[in-house]
This record gives sequence, structure tokens and C-alpha cells, in this order.
Amino acid sequence: MKTLEITIDHLTKEGVGVTRIEKKPMYIMYAIENEKILANVEFVGKRNIFGSVNKVLTPSNYRCNPKCNVYYQCGGCHLQHMTYEGQLQFKTNVVKKLYKEAGFENIKVNKCIGQDVPYFYRNKIQSPVKRSGKNIIAGFYKEDSHEIIPFDKCYVQDELSNKIIKAVVVAMKENKIEPYNEDLETGIVRHILIRRASKETMLVLVTKVNSFAGRNNFVKSIRNKVKEITTIVQNINPRHTNVILGEKENILYGKGFIVDTLCNINFKISPKSFYQINKEQCEKLYNKAIELATLNKDDIVLDAYCGIGTIGMIASKKAKLVYGVEIINDAIKDARINAKNNNINNAYFYCADAKDFMRKYDGEAMSVVFVDPPRKGCSEQFLNSLAHFKPKKIVYISCNPETQVRDIKYLMAKGYTFNEVHPFDMFPQTFHVETVVLLNKKND
Ligand code: SAH
Repeated sequence: MKTLEITIDHLTKEGVGVTRIEKKPMYIMYAIENEKILANVEFVGKRNIFGSVNKVLTPSNYRCNPKCNVYYQCGGCHLQHMTYEGQLQFKTNVVKKLYKEAGFENIKVNKCIGQDVPYFYRNKIQSPVKRSGKNIIAGFYKEDSHEIIPFDKCYVQDELSNKIIKAVVVAMKENKIEPYNEDLETGIVRHILIRRASKETMLVLVTKVNSFAGRNNFVKSIRNKVKEITTIVQNINPRHTNVILGEKENILYGKGFIVDTLCNINFKISPKSFYQINKEQCEKLYNKAIELATLNKDDIVLDAYCGIGTIGMIASKKAKLVYGVEIINDAIKDARINAKNNNINNAYFYCADAKDFMRKYDGEAMSVVFVDPPRKGCSEQFLNSLAHFKPKKIVYISCNPETQVRDIKYLMAKGYTFNEVHPFDMFPQTFHVETVVLLNKKND
């Protein structure tokens, strides 16, 4: 294979090293900015060249050894070959570049806020299960494939989850419960899903069929192996699909949900509700969002894309009234129960598409709006109606700064301004970055 000595010019927003070879960009995974490396030339296309690291000749100060022994095969993490300081610097630069390219030259991009211990943070784990010869394996799908990479210990998911996955696999063997085979559509267990709260742990067994022989003994042997599990739910997904969860659920043990405390409020979490993955970082992010909103007792707040109502409920302590809107019905049911359980009686939650809610909204005028949309950002219709209500502040939380920049441009055209971006590292070891921006309404 042909090799080339090259110096990495910059990283893509996915953390891939880039250099230029005869006017074509060459992409090299696991290489770091400014490093001199010997690269293997893997593929030469019309427009791009793809390579891999053969040898690092002059390592970056940010280079380190990944902790995980399947890091280079799994694809779940992207930055374990960089020190944590290097990762934070990289994320800060990604956001800076995006805002600069969008023409926001004078905007201050703060340094990305990191986690004290950037490992074992994931409180939700989804692991596919498969037969491999005589063995049953559970792990993660290799990126863009259906090949499962088993692991001994995953450094981003919480340690008890590592133990539960192993216990479920052993219990399957002991009770002769067959994993699902997606080609033949036979077998029982498709996925193991674990959700953890500070004091409670939920195991969701995703199965192809509702009833199967040995189910009770299977559940008993899992419970015997891991005493910390507080509830076990069976989710039935009979369809031939990549979607993990099905509609129907049976509670096999315990109450069927867990309760977690976030910013001093208790939240009920069902198998299907959205809940932030990294609690420690989430509290920092929410505190910043609430601080930026500078709420007072006259404020009428909208929490758009509210999930189980987390931000809205935290805001309700300082505001007059809060409305929350979210498209998933189960999450809204949880939000209403959460409000009641926490004695919050100034927050109301609605299940609707955010854009439809805005069209029908006839409450009092909103003064502060939190938006926290999924990766695709807000729809134009939603932003249009939002601008119509002219809230004095919009706090925009985003898990995809690219769509955030697009939406902010739209809101600026409708009379909003902003000065600063606050990046947060919610997913250490991966390239993802979350950002919070306060937009103020200009005086008409
Ligand atoms: N603010 C919450 C959830 C943020 S995730 C939290 O911090 O926990 C984004 C949420 O938007 C998800 O719960 C998703 O179900 C919801 N969502 C996606 N599209 C939507 C739409 N068109 N209208 C309303 N909610 C939507």
C-alpha cells in the first residue's frame, strides 16, 4: 500500500484529520491537528482521498492512548486518542468556526465546559444481542453496520450497566433464551436497554414476541445476579425494523419506571421518555439556560420540545406560568405526573407538534421561551410563529450547532440579537457538542 508523509492541517467537525494532496482533501481518522504522520493511502476518489494512520511521526501534545481496547473497532467514541483538554479545545474550535463562517465575527464563543471525570457518564445504554456460533454476544453496532462489537468494559457507559449486560447474556444461556436473528426473524431477545437514576435502575428487555417459555425464571436469574436492578420491563417489538422499541410493554418486576433527581426536582422516567444522557453536565447546562433567562415572577414561559418537562419545571420556580410542548405522548404524561409529584401547579404540558401548538396558542403572551429541539433544529413555521409572539428572550439550547446557526439567522431577521455562545460537553469522548445561546428582542 502506498504511504505518504503528511502534516494534518485541521480537523473536520467529526474530528477527522484533513490535509491536501494535489488539490484534493485527504481524510485520516484518528489523526490530530498539526501532527506529522505516515499515512496509508486507502482510497483515491475523484474528489477525495481517504487514508489511515500508519505511524505518528510527530505526535500532538493532545495525543494520548485510548483507554478502551476496542476503541478503533467500535466507532461509538471518536476522540479517545485525544487528551480531555484537547477534546474541549477541539469542540470550542468547531463552534467558533461554525459561527465565524456564518458571518458572526464579533460573537464571543466561550470555552466548552467539560466534565470533571469524562468517563462512565451515560445513564442510558442500548445494546443489541446476537448469536455468534455457540456464544451469545452483546455490544455495540460497529458504525454504519449491523456487526456487533462485543466489549469487556465500555468507558462511557456507567459501570453497573456493563455488569447488567453481562448478567443478561449469562441468564439467557442458563435459561435457553435465544437471541433474535434479524435475517431469519427467529429468536426472542433483540436488545437490552438500561436506564439509570442516582438510586434506581431499570432494565428493559426488548423481545420479538410477547410470551415465551422460561420468562419468569429468566427474570429471576437476572435479579439474582444484579441486586441493584429496581425494575424490569419487557418491550415487545415484533417488526422487522431498525427502530429499537415497540409499542407494547409488560412490567415484569417493580414499578415500571425510575425516578431521578435533577436540579432538586424528581423526574419519573419511563422506558420511552427522552431524558438527558449525562446528568452532571445536564445540570450545568440547565443552570446556564436558567441563568441566561433571568426569570421573574411576571414571566410567562414556554418550554418548547420539553421532553418530560425538565427545563420548564426548573423555570416554574422562578416564573409566573409555564407551558411545555412535546410531540411524544408518554413524555407529556410523565411531565404532568412530574409536576404533580413535585407540587408544581403553575406548569401545563401539551402533547403536540411545536409548530401546531404555536398556531393554536391563545394563552397570555409569552415573555421567555426555551427551545431545545432535536438535531434537525426548529421548523420554519415554528420560528415564524415564535417571532409573532415577540418574547423578550429566547434561550436556544442545541445538540447540533449547525441547525442552531441556521435558526438563529432566521430569528435575527425577525429582530433578535445575541452576543455569546456557551458550548457544553455533554458527550465526552465523542465529537458531539451542545450549545446555549440567549437571543434578545431588539426594541421596535
Ligand atoms: N428539553 C428536553 C428534551 C430535549 S430533546 C430535555 O432537555 O430533556 C428534544 C425533544 O423534542 C424530544 O423529547 C422530542 O421528542 C421532541 N420533539 C421532536 N420533534 C418535535 C416537534 N416537532 N414538536 C414538539 N416536540 C418535538
